[in-house]
Amino acid sequence: MPEPWMRDVVFLLFVWLIGYHYQQWCLISAMPKAHPHPLKAKKKVEKADGKFQGLTKKPVCVECEQAEQLPAVTYLPPPLITAKRGRRKSVETGFQYCPDEKCRYHGWIGRGNMSSNGHPNQGPHRQLYCRVCKSYFTETKGTLFYRKRYSAERIGQAITALAEGLGIRAVGRVFNVEPKTVLVWLVEAAEHFEVFNTYMTRNLEIEQVQLDELYGVIRAYQAGELNEVEVIAKLDKRRRSVWLWTAMDPLSKFWLASETGGRTAQSAWKIVHKVAMVLKKGLVPLFLTDGNRTYEQPILSHYGEWRAPEEGQRKPRWVPLPNLLYAQVVKKRRGRRIVSVSKRAVFGALTHIKETLTPHGWQINTAFVERLNLTIRQLVPGLGRRVNTLLHSPERLAQQVCLAQTYYNFCLPASSLKIASTAERGAQIRTPAMAIGITTHIWSVKEVLLFRPPPFPQES
Ligand SMILES: [Zn+2]
Ligand SMILES: [Zn+2]
Repeated sequence: MPEPWMRDVVFLLFVWLIGYHYQQWCLISAMPKAHPHPLKAKKKVEKADGKFQGLTKKPVCVECEQAEQLPAVTYLPPPLITAKRGRRKSVETGFQYCPDEKCRYHGWIGRGNMSSNGHPNQGPHRQLYCRVCKSYFTETKGTLFYRKRYSAERIGQAITALAEGLGIRAVGRVFNVEPKTVLVWLVEAAEHFEVFNTYMTRNLEIEQVQLDELYGVIRAYQAGELNEVEVIAKLDKRRRSVWLWTAMDPLSKFWLASETGGRTAQSAWKIVHKVAMVLKKGLVPLFLTDGNRTYEQPILSHYGEWRAPEEGQRKPRWVPLPNLLYAQVVKKRRGRRIVSVSKRAVFGALTHIKETLTPHGWQINTAFVERLNLTIRQLVPGLGRRVNTLLHSPERLAQQVCLAQTYYNFCLPASSLKIASTAERGAQIRTPAMAIGITTHIWSVKEVLLFRPPPFPQES
């Protein structure tokens, strides 16, 4: 027979057990439910991280593919000629080459075959001599100045005025030349400037690239009456707008590349390809653009690599290079006003991108390329905000942009690039080309036009 106190103990124990289990049940039901498929849950976490998992196919650059299909040509330099007597005149004729295509030394610079013969009949241009094929020619042969009615001075000044943004008719009036003659000079100069630019702009070592697009109007619309957003909305429908895509280095202010065309993915591919071509091989800069998502694939194509499949993946993935950094500045507009600005990292970590910019005291920005766009609007008639000259055709725009790009990089000193005077030397004014280190002096337009880049690549 159990004691009466034991009955009380068993009763109390019973009550405590019920209370304990009730508490446990409450706790469990308050906890988040476990996912029935743990593998799927893991995938979700990865996506939430924003980590890009790569592509199973490499995005293909059409321009790179075409370049790969071209046969590789190697040029063997002819033997160096050393002068038997007297000093070699290599300084004065250093960048000159024999223009005769039948000559073994044609196109080769710095091989000692060229000499200067002075200025015959006190003319403005030197006479040059090739010792190999024993032919004489004037230094303007193969340039825009060759056999022209007008002096090189006058043509040089007229092209400078064009590059400064004066319209063709206005240049004709200032220099007392027929507009159609000015147009011929513009076309020839643009062709030459492009060759000059391609020759000079290569193997660049830069840290950052800023890219942007600006619109132009083809003979359809008087700019300035509506705001930019309204103009874009109207013109895109009528397909009369043309876009200029630009790329620049914010540190040297160098205008790296430009592309005229639609506001399409194709143009984005072309401008990124051009940037990749002028940079030193293997160099991976930090890319900064607006919120235009069409840059992402071309950047990934040019600055990516194959990675072996990871756990749970069957195929290798095309992923961004580990040191590739790309951030976008996304501006939201309401009418003319910018209502919000946000920054997002597309490739690489946001903190890493910020660290790269900190030494310069900069935030993630596209301010420098926007500043360049303002300069371009001043230099290219028809791209200005309130202009009388409207763009004639996309081809004309491309020619004027070509002129403006070379002029801006090589001939136009920028006040922000000026080096203050020190105890040893005075202040130094610099052009973007000097700041990026591809030249040591300010070029005149005439000098650019007289320079004949060699017709094939060679070690200089
Ligand atoms: Zn390419
Ligand atoms: Zn020759």
